[in-house]
Amino acid sequence: MPELPEVETICRYLNTVLPGKTIQKTVLLLPRQLRHPDPASFTALTEGKTIDGCSRRGKYIRLGLSDGTELILHLRMTGSLYYTPEPQDDRYARLYFELDDGGRLMFSDLRTFGTIAAIVPGETYSVSGMETLGPEPLENDFTSAYLFGKLKRSKAPVKSFLLNQQNVAGLGNIYVDEALFLAGIHPLRHGVDLTKLDAEHLVGAIRQVLEAGIRDGGTTFRNYRNGEGGFGEHQEHLAVYHRNGEPCRRCGTVIEKIKVGGRGTHFCPHCQPLPEHDPATDDMTDHNN
Ligand SMILES: [Zn+2]
Repeated sequence: MPELPEVETICRYLNTVLPGKTIQKTVLLLPRQLRHPDPASFTALTEGKTIDGCSRRGKYIRLGLSDGTELILHLRMTGSLYYTPEPQDDRYARLYFELDDGGRLMFSDLRTFGTIAAIVPGETYSVSGMETLGPEPLENDFTSAYLFGKLKRSKAPVKSFLLNQQNVAGLGNIYVDEALFLAGIHPLRHGVDLTKLDAEHLVGAIRQVLEAGIRDGGTTFRNYRNGEGGFGEHQEHLAVYHRNGEPCRRCGTVIEKIKVGGRGTHFCPHCQPLPEHDPATDDMTDHNN
């Protein structure tokens, strides 16, 4: 699933090619992925409009049109949004815009969990999950004081806490595992048991892994494609994610994989120890899943 660095990579590229281009034709191939408004209104709202630019909030992509209308896309599991200078076959295309330069902006989605909405200025419609997003982790309001305050009230494993978009926006399974490794924090430790210093380390680690992911153009395991339809490179540089059974790059201990809140979770048992008598130890029963 594309996370913050992947969505950021897509937006940065689209901002180099889309601004100033006009949508000549809107082709909605799978209307059920459109959340708002109805297909006919969506077409009327987009055709003939010029694209201003692309921005990101959490894992949501916002495409601004010249009249203030915003298109909001969420790629979910397997969605991609890319520009192609000439028409090309894509069997998973669900929506595309024909642009006045002969190119197309394509929304492609194998498993069709992605969502699309168009919102006109002043409209009260809000995209599900967007209003309650926590702070952007690369912005200044994501501080260790903020994080510590939230952690203190959380009895969930820190892995689940960080996946909750209401606590911090844009993190997913890959970058949470990477950040916890870098901060030296075991994924099963409970928020309430973490110290101020842990929160400081975590803020620094989250920023560091996200910035590295953006620098490498995102992480591709299966479906993620950047704004040009190409692959990311960050999978070559991961410390723990998808490396279970392999030696830790820092200490040589074998990386383990467990399930936390139903999600595959990778960590180094030596670099991310569980403190003795930590109540999180009780959760280790589903160790082999
Ligand atoms: Zn290690």
